[in-house]
Amino acid sequence: MHELTLLYGVVQKVEQVCKENDLDRVDAIVIEVGEATSVIPEFLQDGYEVISDDYDFLRGSELIIERIRAIGRCRGCGTEFPVVANKGLCPTCGSFDKDIIEGADFFIREVRVMETQ
Ligand SMILES: [Zn+2]
Repeated sequence: MHELTLLYGVVQKVEQVCKENDLDRVDAIVIEVGEATSVIPEFLQDGYEVISDDYDFLRGSELIIERIRAIGRCRGCGTEFPVVANKGLCPTCGSFDKDIIEGADFFIREVRVMETQ
């Protein structure tokens, strides 16, 4: 499953952050998922609950998913518009030909650790 591959990538990066910052564990991982990616947030969440149990530094932590709106720029007239709300069509000229300029990414925004310990 696509989402699991992504999750293992996240786990590896967070593990690295832990090593670099001398952390035993994290409390939450915040990731951003663009609407224009094929990632299904529910699958990520479900997968995380299973995977996080396998790692000491993740056990009991939370995965917070932030959805980023997909923005397209029409190749015909240059209009920038929210892709999903317009069903992929340019609201100005009706063209389907566009570049996705925002919301095509998946990345880790933040690794949260409780200060008090
Ligand atoms: Zn247009």
